[in-house]
Amino acid sequence: MSLTLSDVHLTYPDGDRTLTALDEVSLHVGAGELLAVVGPSGSGKSSLLAVAATLLRPDSGSVVVDGVDTGGLSAAQRARLRLEKIGIVFQQPNLLGSLTAAEQLQATQHMRGRSVRRQRRAAAELLATVGLDGKQHRRPHQLSGGERQRVNIARALTGEPAVLLVDEPTAALDHDRGSQIVELLAEVTREHQVATVMVTHDTEYLDHVDEVAVMRDGRLTPSVVGAHR
Ligand code: ADP
Ligand code: MG
Repeated sequence: MSLTLSDVHLTYPDGDRTLTALDEVSLHVGAGELLAVVGPSGSGKSSLLAVAATLLRPDSGSVVVDGVDTGGLSAAQRARLRLEKIGIVFQQPNLLGSLTAAEQLQATQHMRGRSVRRQRRAAAELLATVGLDGKQHRRPHQLSGGERQRVNIARALTGEPAVLLVDEPTAALDHDRGSQIVELLAEVTREHQVATVMVTHDTEYLDHVDEVAVMRDGRLTPSVVGAHR
């Protein structure tokens, strides 16, 4: 269970020129490790996650997910890899308004062909893990922002992924709730032995992470800050 990016270069078309979003980015995250990527808005953090999630193909460089070099995979193979190996927590918590917390998780389990009984049990266990015991029948509007983010994280973990990718999880939260979410990410990373990358522009939540890397203008530099465990 690991994620390795080597010399990843990504450009976007920009009029008659190109914009370099990722400039020879390399990183490695092992099972049970939480890496925080910190950088200002526009520095390339979401692009990094999109490449790591195999949603975007880099111009050059490699993305290896749980031992699988994704460069040679077809679109269908990448979709399967995402379903089986990658949990994604997007910046916008895209929960479905009409579904309860448990049903949000069961919907993705259904895509994986699990039995209804297994779906229910897994959903209840995961919601308890993220501190939502007793709230599994609530719909998004009956949950706070922090609780919605917890559902989002639990949903990303339902497929027992090898890799967890998290975009700005604290953006809409106050300091205490933001801090609790990062603490939760550290906990689930250890308990589920996933390789987790959290990107954020916030430097105030780095106490719980194993490693910090700094993103600036598409370049990633390892940092000593926060690497205290
Ligand atoms: P961050 O998540 O750190 O704010 P992004 O990865 O979203 O950074 O963006 C990095 C750079 O790439 C920015 O200059 C942004 O404007 C540009 N960019 C992001 N997505 C696209 C896209 N789909 N097409 C063209 N440019 C993009
Ligand atoms: Mg972003």
